[in-house]
Amino acid sequence: MKRNGVKSMVHGKVYLVGAGPGDPKLLTVKAVEVIKMANVLIYDRLGVSDDVLNMAPVEAERIFVGKRTGLHEVPQDQITHLIIQKAKEGGVVVRLKGGDPFVFGRGGEEVEALVVNGISFEVIPGISSSIAAPMYAGIPLTHRDYAASVAIITGHRAGDAEKHVDWVKIAHAVDTMVILMGVESLEGIVDKLLTGGISPNRSVAMVESGTLPQQRTIIATLGTIIAKSRENNLKPPAVIIIGEVTTLGRKLAWFKQPLH
Ligand code: SAH
Repeated sequence: MKRNGVKSMVHGKVYLVGAGPGDPKLLTVKAVEVIKMANVLIYDRLGVSDDVLNMAPVEAERIFVGKRTGLHEVPQDQITHLIIQKAKEGGVVVRLKGGDPFVFGRGGEEVEALVVNGISFEVIPGISSSIAAPMYAGIPLTHRDYAASVAIITGHRAGDAEKHVDWVKIAHAVDTMVILMGVESLEGIVDKLLTGGISPNRSVAMVESGTLPQQRTIIATLGTIIAKSRENNLKPPAVIIIGEVTTLGRKLAWFKQPLH
């Protein structure tokens, strides 16, 4: 079955759309265009505000597949199944994802399933929180004087399917580490780095709810970050940045000042 063959004329089309980091104004023009054409919107809450959902036609079907407080998320295979089912019913199916769909968004898995099922699709990039949250805290991930390399890493507790992350090796190899989904495993990550010989003086920042009005930033060191994040009760969604560039957040913060 060809993606652009007869079958896809019958089926609907799926747009895998990056909704950006939070502020609806950080959507791309292309994302807004397809949201306005949507017959079905499938979204998780992270990075997808009501302002974005309201851009879709009133009659569009809106399906929430994210995590609600106290409840589990909808399993990925069910989400994928739903996207395929809706595409087979026809029309424009918009799958909205926080940030960029291919940066820890499981977008790759959804696209694989679309390919297998011969469903036509496009992927629309989004501004990733991995870049935008630090930026809104005045932290450039690269800088001529401080950082020539960046790694974006998942801090998610290693589940069965999760690939092992060699924290110390990465800390030696790159100048700036950006950790997503890391709030809950912060202690484990810090512990691995310190016992692996990384200096407790290495600078660390955490940016909570980046680009949103409630954004909060803390700037600390590997030795003090755990106490400081507890003290301020930092919660997901937050990006953790490790490296010298984080010190610039004290000087270059423009959206919100870091907490003291
Ligand atoms: N595809 C998304 C990332 C999905 S993983 C992207 O490109 O941004 C989810 C993680 O993203 C969260 O655990 C958190 O680490 C980060 N995140 C998402 N939105 C955020 C925000 N507004 N501020 C800080 N971190 C955010």
